[in-house]
Amino acid sequence: MTRARVGIFGGTFDPIHQGHLRVAEEAREAFDLERVILVPAALPPHKESGARIPRAPAALRLAWVEQAIADNPALCVDPLELQREGPSYTIDTIRSLRTRGGPEPPVFVIGCDAFALLGSWHRPAEVLASAHFAVVTRPPTRAGSLANWLPDALREDFELSPDERSATHRQTSTWVRLLEIPGLEVSSSEIRRRLREGRSVRYLLPEAVLAPVLESGIYQQPEPGESA
Ligand code: ATP
Repeated sequence: MTRARVGIFGGTFDPIHQGHLRVAEEAREAFDLERVILVPAALPPHKESGARIPRAPAALRLAWVEQAIADNPALCVDPLELQREGPSYTIDTIRSLRTRGGPEPPVFVIGCDAFALLGSWHRPAEVLASAHFAVVTRPPTRAGSLANWLPDALREDFELSPDERSATHRQTSTWVRLLEIPGLEVSSSEIRRRLREGRSVRYLLPEAVLAPVLESGIYQQPEPGESA
């Protein structure tokens, strides 16, 4: 296999937390990535299929990602989805980043919960043909089979390994691999909930963004549709 060097890690990062950073670091190490590019989403286009609308403005989410990764040269952030008009389609992001990088397909890093919804994304077949996918376990999931998570309509496009932890695209040779990591049971929604309740989020948020997130006061307001 030719070595893929760059990782792309998309997310709402609302706000960025230790689980995100651990995922990026585990993927960097497991796939020998030169760097992992964090790509904050503007407005998730698949919100009608269950994704959330961001609470914090894009500029703040971006600034927090920059602050959280400032001490790690292997991580960087690309604001391209915030600079584009309209919805943030992953296929456009992968294509833009591929033209800037070398010929190697990037490794798109994604939690298993998000990967399970990929069939509802814009042009999922092209997404899976345009990048490798590192599917990272997320609590409560510790292990699993890609046979269960590959979109039904696209399963035939892939040849599964006997242990069902990796799959190779029959036409493009892009692969999907399961990456089992020690789970960190942390989520942005849990952090937002704790902040609303006035509880501590220390050690759940990266140290560098603890004060900026608290000072913003963003998450102290009730979520839309929630009574104060
Ligand atoms: P929310 O709770 O608001 O839905 P989130 O914590 O899932 O947010 P996102 O920014 O939506 O954070 O996630 C970006 C990516 O990171 C997704 O692929 C998601 O599966 C993955 N991810 C987030 N937290 C973890 C975690 N603790 N372990 C593994 N993967 C994670």
